[in-house]
Amino acid sequence: MKTLITGGAGFIGSHLAEKQLAAGHEVFIIDDLSTGSLENIAGIEKHGNLHFILDTIRDESIMENLIKQVDQVFHLAAAVGVKWIIDNPLRSIQTNVLGSEIVLRLSAKYKKKVLLASTSEIYGKKTESPFSEEDDRLLGSTHISRWSYSNTKALDEFWALAYHREKKLPVIIVRLFNTCGPRQTGQYGMVIPRFVKQALLGHPITVHGDGQQSRCFAYVGDVLTGITKLMDTPAAVGQIFNLGNNQSITILQLAEKIKKMTDSSSPIEFIPYEEAYEQGFEDMPERTPDLTKIKNLIGYQPQVDIDELLHRIIEYSES
Ligand code: UDP
Repeated sequence: MKTLITGGAGFIGSHLAEKQLAAGHEVFIIDDLSTGSLENIAGIEKHGNLHFILDTIRDESIMENLIKQVDQVFHLAAAVGVKWIIDNPLRSIQTNVLGSEIVLRLSAKYKKKVLLASTSEIYGKKTESPFSEEDDRLLGSTHISRWSYSNTKALDEFWALAYHREKKLPVIIVRLFNTCGPRQTGQYGMVIPRFVKQALLGHPITVHGDGQQSRCFAYVGDVLTGITKLMDTPAAVGQIFNLGNNQSITILQLAEKIKKMTDSSSPIEFIPYEEAYEQGFEDMPERTPDLTKIKNLIGYQPQVDIDELLHRIIEYSES
């Protein structure tokens, strides 16, 4: 089978490419290396079944040529990382909105199955966790750049569902909740690689706000199991699924755990949100996925808990 992975040189995309190659598929990656890197695919670069295209998904003729020849598309290319999105508001909107429309429209034209990676940011700042797929969304003002991400990905979802209904596009939408693992960089804001690096270097561990906000961190391997199983499940088409881990931890507890596991002398430092991001920044107090739907359809059950996840990331970062 021929697979196209947009954003295949990114953190999740590169792990997915490895998994698809190992399963015997021919893999095409398109990535503009805005947040992905060649280092991420260094291990598979010379694989005979891998084709890497350095370009943007906004180039229609390249996308048409690619989509025409593959059997399935994992659409992972997107602006990611709260910090990156705030620093690059225009490019984030262009990639997420214009790029995704091209991927979806051409996949509909050639009737290719697409899995669209969406995000838990969709739910916004609502507080009644766990979040289930049919829940309402709660978003802040358009003055706050963070919310553009939620809206651009929501528009992707609307587009995907509209192409499904009107053009019979076989599409599956997956809302990812804080995926972590080796190769994720802290450069664009992601908390675990940042804390691990800070702890290993003996630098202050920078907790934003009072650290009482919580998240559920999922191991990339678990997320890939979910993604690939959904892609192979006909009943998933036309549907939206939460995907992640539902074990919650506060950011302060996370900082303390990482400090302990790395045996670090780093102090824990509290940084006001405005200093870390932008004036008026709003965070989500908590964010837990309701995983009932994906459990019921494909028997999804995360295998890697937070301790094991941190252990693997620390080991990778030390090597
Ligand atoms: N965070 C933090 N220190 C950092 C980076 C992030 O305290 O150096 C916090 C961030 O404010 C948020 C949580 O960790 O409350 C998760 O942040 P991340 O950017 O990893 O993911 P998201 O905000 O998308 O859940």
